[in-house]
Amino acid sequence: MTTPDLERRVNSRLDELYERHVDEHEDEVVEYYDPEAPEEEKESFGVSLVSTDGVAFETGDHDLPFPIQSISKAFVYGMALEDCGREAVLEKVGVEPSGEAFNSIEFDDKARRPHNPMVNAGALATTSLVLHGDEPEKCMERILAALRRYAANDSLHVDEELLAAQFEDTDRNRAIAYLMRSQGMIEGDVEAVLELYLRQCSVFATTHDLGMMAATLANGGVNPETNVRALEGRYVRDVLSVLYTCGMYDAAGQWAYEIGIPAKSGVSGGIMAIVPGKLGIAVYSPGLDEYGNSVRGVKVCEEISDRLGLHVFANESEDILLRAVG
Ligand code: GLN
Repeated sequence: MTTPDLERRVNSRLDELYERHVDEHEDEVVEYYDPEAPEEEKESFGVSLVSTDGVAFETGDHDLPFPIQSISKAFVYGMALEDCGREAVLEKVGVEPSGEAFNSIEFDDKARRPHNPMVNAGALATTSLVLHGDEPEKCMERILAALRRYAANDSLHVDEELLAAQFEDTDRNRAIAYLMRSQGMIEGDVEAVLELYLRQCSVFATTHDLGMMAATLANGGVNPETNVRALEGRYVRDVLSVLYTCGMYDAAGQWAYEIGIPAKSGVSGGIMAIVPGKLGIAVYSPGLDEYGNSVRGVKVCEEISDRLGLHVFANESEDILLRAVG
């Protein structure tokens, strides 16, 4: 339970965290997802922590909507598990970290499937499982309904302009998808799968929404504000396991080592991280590092994980002692 005093104190700590990170990232930015964006947009920076009892602590641009991009892969994977069951999904997409960039054209040749659902090839396979040969637009309504349940926000929507722009510029995904069909890894209408995949990437949400979505995963699949279930409880473990090992592109191992909680990033600069039973964390800041992860996002998560001792393998008693004397 929180009290107004506790909330005030946590919020002021978060404001300090914002100040510590707001000026320090520039020289580490390798690229922006949207290099043409106005400078002030590139400088956006929001942080949101949502507890599993639904209390949000936030700072910066936490109400600014941005495209969730690859973060959508986590939720659509959950949906595929619900639709098809674990075995059928595992047949089509593995759970092994690939160590490759998100858009690499690499497959698990032994099992004849993409390595995992968090790289584009795997996400295309998952999306095709959710599509079931349906109309992409109609299926997107189902995905949106689920995302809205996670976020407790009915205004989440697809940005049609971004969708059209992504469609113009998706040759690599198109190549991956056709190659997969030629090898029997996906079936049916490839263009429909691509459309649905790009639609899920084009959903706009705020850092607050994303914090809430992460808190829903942290809360066993039930949104802590509405008490509405967004994902069947038995699949939460599967989604979080894959996020832990594969959620941060080819920096997933480094992330697991340093920060130690399941997470997913997207090329627009969002990161969501999940502390099971405790907390959802979301950060948005568009400057990306060489792996395509938000520079500030990684640093902020690292600091939060360190300070709160969130690493799943942290030696709690030692950490508590260190914090007591530090
Ligand atoms: N729409 C992007 C793509 O498929 C999303 C990828 C991402 O966020 N990594 O290329």
